[in-house]
Amino acid sequence: MSWCIEVAVQAPAHSALGDVLSYTCPVSVAPGALVRVPLGRREVLGVVWAAHAPDAWTPPAMALKPVAGVLDALPPLGDAWRDLVAFAARYYQRSLGEIALAALPPQLRDLSAAQLARRLKRQGPATRAPGTDAATPAVAPTAEQAAALARIEAEAGPFLLFGSTGSGKTEVYLRSVAALLEREPAAQALVMVPEINLTPQLEARFKARFGADAVVSLHSGMTNPQRLASWLAAHGGAARIVLGTRMAVFASMPSLRLIVVDEEHDPSYKQQEGARYSARDLAVWRGRREGAKVILGSATPSLESWHRSRPAGDGDAGGSYLRLAMPSRVGAGALPAVRLVDMNLQPPKTVLSGALLDAIGQRIARGEQSMVFLNRRGYAPVLACGDCGWKSECPHCSAYRVFHKIDRTLRCHHCGFTERVPRACPTCGNPDIAPVGRGTERLEEHLGELFAAVRRPDGSAVRIARIDADSTRKQGALETQLAAVHAGEVDVLVGTQMIAKGHDFRRITLVAAVNPDGALFSSDFRAPERLFGLLMQSAGRAGRDAAYLAAQESTAEMWIQTFHPQHPLFAALRRHDYAVFAEGELKERVPAGMPPFAFQALLRADARTQEAAQAFLNAASSAADGLPGAERVTRYPAVPLTIQRVANVERAQMLIESGSRAALQRLLAQWQPLLHELRRQPEGKGVIRWLVDVDPQSI
Ligand code: ADP
Ligand code: ZN
Ligand code: ZN
Repeated sequence: MSWCIEVAVQAPAHSALGDVLSYTCPVSVAPGALVRVPLGRREVLGVVWAAHAPDAWTPPAMALKPVAGVLDALPPLGDAWRDLVAFAARYYQRSLGEIALAALPPQLRDLSAAQLARRLKRQGPATRAPGTDAATPAVAPTAEQAAALARIEAEAGPFLLFGSTGSGKTEVYLRSVAALLEREPAAQALVMVPEINLTPQLEARFKARFGADAVVSLHSGMTNPQRLASWLAAHGGAARIVLGTRMAVFASMPSLRLIVVDEEHDPSYKQQEGARYSARDLAVWRGRREGAKVILGSATPSLESWHRSRPAGDGDAGGSYLRLAMPSRVGAGALPAVRLVDMNLQPPKTVLSGALLDAIGQRIARGEQSMVFLNRRGYAPVLACGDCGWKSECPHCSAYRVFHKIDRTLRCHHCGFTERVPRACPTCGNPDIAPVGRGTERLEEHLGELFAAVRRPDGSAVRIARIDADSTRKQGALETQLAAVHAGEVDVLVGTQMIAKGHDFRRITLVAAVNPDGALFSSDFRAPERLFGLLMQSAGRAGRDAAYLAAQESTAEMWIQTFHPQHPLFAALRRHDYAVFAEGELKERVPAGMPPFAFQALLRADARTQEAAQAFLNAASSAADGLPGAERVTRYPAVPLTIQRVANVERAQMLIESGSRAALQRLLAQWQPLLHELRRQPEGKGVIRWLVDVDPQSI
């Protein structure tokens, strides 16, 4: 008789397959082992979830298939890892196998047991203790850093490290890791950043401090072999420190003791497709499960984390996180002065106000750098005909196609549909079709014209560069472009939010946001929070080196062009006062019953027609009426998404809300089978897919 094993395989929540499939296995395998199993006509990778000894199970009526192979060269995935996966699957309403398999490096799926064994032999065991080749001596911590470190050492956390831009949060992470490894040389630390483009600089700092062998990265910009190597090093324990983006939260780290989530407020910690998990929230859960300390860091925390870290007082026991403040910049640096330009007072069609141009021009002449920030890529968001009113709509989406001048294309940023720009208006033949509005490409061109006559200190011409998703498409392009900025080869840098976050630029003394107003009046209640964070982050790129500013006799400035200079968001921004901004926002959210005072989920349906999508959602809502506890959860009517149609698919959503996270979770769990069923009923006709987004980031 053989063993019976239950295996998690990749089967999306929407398939009819259950969470785990049973197979027979001739040998004993431990839960957490990787196996290859037959599934339909294919052979797939699976994770053993449970194993039953030969005398402990009864064969079912339909004979079980045998496993195809056991990847026994690899130590099994631990209990804690499997608990994390199971929790994520349950909480975010996905199947176990989907989360488990997505959490493993893709290349594992293609390796046979023998190939993996060879691969592991090549990788070899860890040979050196970390820190032995540390090249850079640590700097002495500032008083604020020392105070934060002492609390982190003494208390359990989770911690919210509320540190201004340039207050030296990274140094706190480095020292926390160092203290951990000193105490426990075999321990592991996980350090997460929101964007791939922030990993190179961070990786360099960690490798300089702990030695190249101790540090590995995990993010989607790596090749599959690189990802496998990093993953194996973390799983085997050779890697002391794993640096990565949100996917790294699932890294198998048997000796995990510390988790850092840098820029914890950043929306990119929330996965926006497939399993919509929040890596920040999972990090907190994982830390508690594994007894690892968790440090969330930000100059502009999410209102959730801010609220959770509120101090006790007024009959309130306080939040469960510990807030550690580092308000000052390192080296007596001051935060930049914020200057608002009232665009109502500018001549019509002004792109950059005269005062801002003067300020940038002076910096060019002194050899300093400026950064101009516009959250819209391409040349112009719309191309239009002045005669007949034609606009560059996407035929497949309810959105305009963006004009990209570089290759003279109209590109839809939603479905990717791309065409060459027509020579004349497709409707009336007017040859004079013109760009409307402005993206980074056009801004770059405009700045080039405006500063054509301005000279740098050595008499040479101005150098303007642009960094956005278009300029960095090629592998390695971003690194090259960032290196050029760091090396001082750029005078004015134009870009999207890509350049606003995290980077430790040393010679930028002016940052300008030229058109941030859109987010002030968005229907999404998180838009102001996000705008404030982005502007604070952008401001944080200016004047980071106090000694440089003093030597230049310059000052750091953040310029904001707006039609609403009286908006309270800007008043708080001028004083760099996140706390005041946060209190204002929270005060509005209490009576409105919005997060963090309530918990939300979205049910979304994509269908052939908007009617079908909404009909499915409304039927789903009726089906939920009868569920126990449904009265504790508010279900709103179905509405179209802001961009209603993408790639010829109509999209609608329904907001679900409760003051109790548990009540919301209970309803979602009971709802799931009804939704699968409904999809097969007449109400599901025309529905292409549906999904649940728990704790959605945008409504
Ligand atoms: P943050 O992540 O808070 O924006 P960083 O950690 O990047 O700030 O620190 C800003 C700059 O200050 C970096 O160049 C860093 O090397 C430097 N720095 C940090 N801590 C110290 C310290 N204690 N003494 C000297 N320089 C420091
Ligand atoms: Zn026309
Ligand atoms: Zn489109």
